[in-house]
Amino acid sequence: MKRILWFRRDLRVSDNSLLTFGGEVLPIFIFDTNILDSLDINDRRITIIFNAVVKLKSDLQEIGLDLKIYYGKPIEILKHLASFGFDEVVASGDYDAYARQRDLEVSQFIHFRYLSDTYIFKPHEVLKEDKTPYLVFTPFYQKALKVLENREIFKKEIATHTLHTICYDGISGFKNSKCIQLDLEMKTLGFQKTELDQISLKSKLQSLRLKLCIYKLERDFLSLDATSNLSVELRFGTLGIRELLRFVQGLDGSADFIRQLIFRDFYAYLLFHFPRIEHENYKYSFNGIADQQKYELFCSAKTGVPIIDAAVTQLITTGKMHNRARMVAASFFTKDLLLPWQWGEKFFAKHLLDYDKASNVLSWQWSAGTGVDPQPYFRVFNPYLQAKRFDKDTFYIKQYLSQLCDIDLKNIHDEEWLLNNKILEYPRPIIRHHEASKIAIESFKHMEI
Ligand SMILES: Cc1cc2nc3c(=O)[nH]c(=O)nc-3n(C[C@H](O)[C@H](O)[C@H](O)COP(=O)(O)OP(=O)(O)OC[C@H]3O[C@@H](n4cnc5c(N)ncnc54)[C@H](O)[C@@H]3O)c2cc1C
Repeated sequence: MKRILWFRRDLRVSDNSLLTFGGEVLPIFIFDTNILDSLDINDRRITIIFNAVVKLKSDLQEIGLDLKIYYGKPIEILKHLASFGFDEVVASGDYDAYARQRDLEVSQFIHFRYLSDTYIFKPHEVLKEDKTPYLVFTPFYQKALKVLENREIFKKEIATHTLHTICYDGISGFKNSKCIQLDLEMKTLGFQKTELDQISLKSKLQSLRLKLCIYKLERDFLSLDATSNLSVELRFGTLGIRELLRFVQGLDGSADFIRQLIFRDFYAYLLFHFPRIEHENYKYSFNGIADQQKYELFCSAKTGVPIIDAAVTQLITTGKMHNRARMVAASFFTKDLLLPWQWGEKFFAKHLLDYDKASNVLSWQWSAGTGVDPQPYFRVFNPYLQAKRFDKDTFYIKQYLSQLCDIDLKNIHDEEWLLNNKILEYPRPIIRHHEASKIAIESFKHMEI
């Protein structure tokens, strides 16, 4: 058998199912121009992927393999490779509409072997008694735990010694695509290298070991660094999901953390089973009111609601946003501003380093109350109460909004005060929360399910 091993969301050697096949293999990575062409020149994620690909190439070389790195359209590149007599392409699951269509097209000219390496469970592994997918997280989670108990998820997959790279000189370059060589540079891709925080995976795991026992208690507090910060590693597969499960297994507090990992699986599972929710509401015909002016104020952190503007500033300047801040911001966007959730999803997609279609779309639908879950449309976060509870000392708000540094924290948490006082270089709130949320609830109430 001759196989193309297509690395995508699994940019690592360690515990990678792709490397469990013996025989002749050609490991490849494709910088997909269908995706790259729509990104800004300084998109930070390209630097993350670039660094991960360079490391992957070097790690593969250490085990006697290599990585061919392509730049172009996957279909054209794989068609070209298929002409060299490969028997199949092997790759790991990717469930958004673009990825599914792309993989379907590939499967029409070469056998496509799908592996499940991105998530804990395969899409059909956790089903209800009647073999239909769960729509509610808690029963999914309970069933998932049972499946996990009965499975050898913790068995490490080791690259066999029988793998060897095919050497076809002719494979490299061809029309419209580039095969990038070892002296790979960001500018070859047309992107600028950006500065990233340099916390290594090893340090993140070491600090997770200490944080786990207080994870449940502290994970919602905005200025505490109480979460793992591993979403980017999970997104690009520089850390494998099985490896992470093994790492936390048995540690005090691991159950709450594993629950969140299962949440990640649940969202991918829902996107797999209900692909239309990538763009459409699952329930309710109401989809917000398009208002460009409100949208621009939100995206430029000028709503006058401190916790929202701090969250958006964090996103724009760092590519990150705390989970609690994401929830509060998405609720404000879809309920207080009554904007279509798809607009917010797109804005997050542009900036989040850990952007993942399934987690983002499903979380936005959850916030809007339009998703598969039983989240009622009338549950609206009050941004001032959320800030008072999860950023009591306003450390988070002041970290990102320097204009508020000299404002007393009790005023920052007080909507009336903010509405009635002028702060230098900071706007007054553009809406009054209880009025805006009343309108949102009324709007949903009158729409059919
Ligand atoms: C509106 C909105 C949009 C979101 N968009 C994304 C996204 O594009 N990509 C993304 O990875 N997460 C997304 N999330 C989920 C969550 O905010 C991030 O996974 C989390 O903040 C990442 O930080 P962490 O790694 O420190 O998380 P931890 O708390 O340490 O959790 C560990 C891991 O579990 C998973 N996880 C945790 N919480 C969730 C959750 N609520 N839903 C799904 N998975 C979760 C992540 O993979 C995370 O890395 C979104 C949440 C909301 C409310």
